[in-house]
Formats: sequence, structure tokens, C-alpha cells
Amino acid sequence: MSANPSGASAADTYFRDIWLSIKSIAIGMRITLKYCFSKTVTIQYPYEKLAFAPRFRGIHEFEADKCIACDMCAKACPVDCIYIDKSAPRKIDKKTGKAVGGDLLRYAIDYQKCMFCALCTEPCPTDCIHMGKNHDLSSYTRADMVVEFQELDKKGMRTPLPLWADKNAAKIPWVAKEKERIEKGLLATTEADIPEV
Ligand code: SF4
Ligand code: SF4
Repeated sequence: MSANPSGASAADTYFRDIWLSIKSIAIGMRITLKYCFSKTVTIQYPYEKLAFAPRFRGIHEFEADKCIACDMCAKACPVDCIYIDKSAPRKIDKKTGKAVGGDLLRYAIDYQKCMFCALCTEPCPTDCIHMGKNHDLSSYTRADMVVEFQELDKKGMRTPLPLWADKNAAKIPWVAKEKERIEKGLLATTEADIPEV
């Protein structure tokens, strides 16, 4: 056997390479096996769901009957994705706590732009715009990403019904409850408002 410049023979190099290959496969298999037997971190949503962090900010919930269309939320929005229109000034009736005056013609949020910063909720003088707990606004068109909250209010809803909730309500109990909550116009501003799996 001839020696190479490093002093190792060709046979030494051959057997060392075999040893290094076996060693690297063993290290890889050890990592693979470790993950095979450890607790999984992914879940089969929507059959299972994770708990939200307490300060999670999801798709807004909007109480149109308390909105005076003052534009404070739209002015606070850093990406200008809130669109408001009214027929005449509105104000809160102190007896009922509801907005009176002109009609709220439009209250829409473009979720292609919204970054869920919650800055719109802070200046609201009537506390009628809230960060909700739903995160899924999948849709078939870009236009559907602009949520017309005033149109939802006509159906008694405070927030849009996600496609997944509509499609899975019949087979998943917690989704049925969530769909019912949204259709009844009940707010979900805390984790406790969302049904358990
Ligand atoms: S959460 Fe932020 S980005 Fe979204 S509408 Fe409110 S202010 Fe605008
Ligand atoms: S700040 Fe509140 S009351 Fe004023 S337009 Fe926005 S949601 Fe309506």
C-alpha cells in the first residue's frame, strides 16, 4: 500500500471514510428516532385546536349599533384599511347607549392590509370595535378579504363567519358552537368565549 502525503495509507482512508459514514448515519437516525417518539407539535385543525394566547388579536368584532362614525379608528390605522361612510352625523343616545342620527352606510376593513395591531380599537369613544379571536379568513377572491361589517350587522352578526366554520359545523361539535355564536352576534373578546374542543 502506498502512503498519501498525510501519512495515512489508502486502506486507512478507506476504512476511516466507512466509519465516518456509519457514524453520520447513526447521528441522523438518533435525531430522527428522537422526534418519532417525542410529543407531536402539530395538530389536526379544525378537528383539534390550540388555545389562544391571552392577548391574541384576531379578526375584529364590530358593534354597528354603537358606532358614531367618527373616523377615529380609521385615522389611527397605520395602513388606512378602514372605510367608513355615513349619511349624516351620529351620536350616542344616553338613554339607550345606541347610536342615533344619520345612517351608518359602510364600515369595512380590508384584511389584505390589516396587520392586527389593534391601534384602531384604542381611540374608539364608544368601545364598539374589538379585536376578536378568529384568525381564519380564507376566501376564494381578493374582494372577499374586504369585510363589510355594516352588511354583517344586517344579518345580526358582529364578525364574518369563516369558510371553515361554515363547512365543518355539521361534523365538528366545537365548530358548530362557534358558528352558532357568530350567527347570534355574540362577541368573543376573550378565550373563554370560544368553545372548547
Ligand atoms: S388592527 Fe391595525 S391595521 Fe388592522 S384595521 Fe386596526 S389599526 Fe388598521
Ligand atoms: S372610532 Fe369607534 S365610533 Fe368612531 S368610527 Fe371607529 S368604530 Fe365607529
